[in-house]
Amino acid sequence: MKRIHLAFAFIPLCLMAMTPSQPLQWYKGNTHTHTINSDGDSTPDEVVRWYKEHGFHFLVLSDHNFLTEVKGLNSIFAAREKFLVINGEEVTDSFEGSPIHINGLNLREVVPPQGGSDPVETLQRNVDAIRGVGGVPHINHPNFRWALTADQMRQVRNNKLLEIYNGSPSVNNHGGGGSPGLEAMWDEILSSGKLIYGIAVDDAHHFKGEFSPDRLNPGRGWVVVQAPRLSAAAIMEGLEAGRFYASTGVSLSDLQVDDQGIEIAIQEKPTFKYTTHFIGDGGRLLSKAHGLKAGYRFQGGERYVRARVVDSMGYTAWTQPVFVDQAR
Ligand SMILES: [Zn+2]
Ligand SMILES: [Zn+2]
Repeated sequence: MKRIHLAFAFIPLCLMAMTPSQPLQWYKGNTHTHTINSDGDSTPDEVVRWYKEHGFHFLVLSDHNFLTEVKGLNSIFAAREKFLVINGEEVTDSFEGSPIHINGLNLREVVPPQGGSDPVETLQRNVDAIRGVGGVPHINHPNFRWALTADQMRQVRNNKLLEIYNGSPSVNNHGGGGSPGLEAMWDEILSSGKLIYGIAVDDAHHFKGEFSPDRLNPGRGWVVVQAPRLSAAAIMEGLEAGRFYASTGVSLSDLQVDDQGIEIAIQEKPTFKYTTHFIGDGGRLLSKAHGLKAGYRFQGGERYVRARVVDSMGYTAWTQPVFVDQAR
């Protein structure tokens, strides 16, 4: 028998999946955003309002080395309609001038940058400090000034989330010039046997003035998380269990994962066309499908399987890797 090493193995995931004990919903959110509490251009109130008015269900405010109190925001925004603000911080550290930024989500208190004697230790000390105050860490924009390699990130313990897309115009998501992009780095980490989930984020700073590709505007990258309710704890649990997909514009209407394989249905935007790639060990393309539905049956030997859905404008959704045990 093939087995899957994943918290939700054998539990079907589907949009609006209902079981008597635990009805599950999908919630769209962004885990990386700045306000005037660091180098953003708008107040927390204005930033939350932007996301609420643009179809999001939750938002993490993550200013540089600053933890914004969100109780008041939740009393304003959550009372009338469903929306959740989760506190957070971008723990903004560096090693020999290279930026090492790690988000802490849902923290009990602010985490000062911890420093370290090399990039891996710097990452680890900050991850540990975030865990120490009850938070969920994620590693940010590893190619920002080419700060981190897959081999370094692979060595970090107790971190389950990695930005594979960041909406900032200067973070080198795609790599180039001989340096790998974030998706290739993700595959390198997965191929080493370490399970890590890929998230897409805005890293938005600019909500005022012109919206243009060279500014840090919102609405570029997000996650859609499956959870029984819209609470910080439930969203954190969904993220850390990999019960979500990341997106820059493609929405899924169904995502099923069980011990047999992965089934995907895509929400159609009129006139758009879609291609789904199923990817395995080493970033190898396992299969490709066109259209609004795509499926993959585990064969054994893939080590892991994940899907990337790309539309005819290049917008993408990434499902989370499933590790397939070859033992029969
Ligand atoms: Zn950063
Ligand atoms: Zn940031």
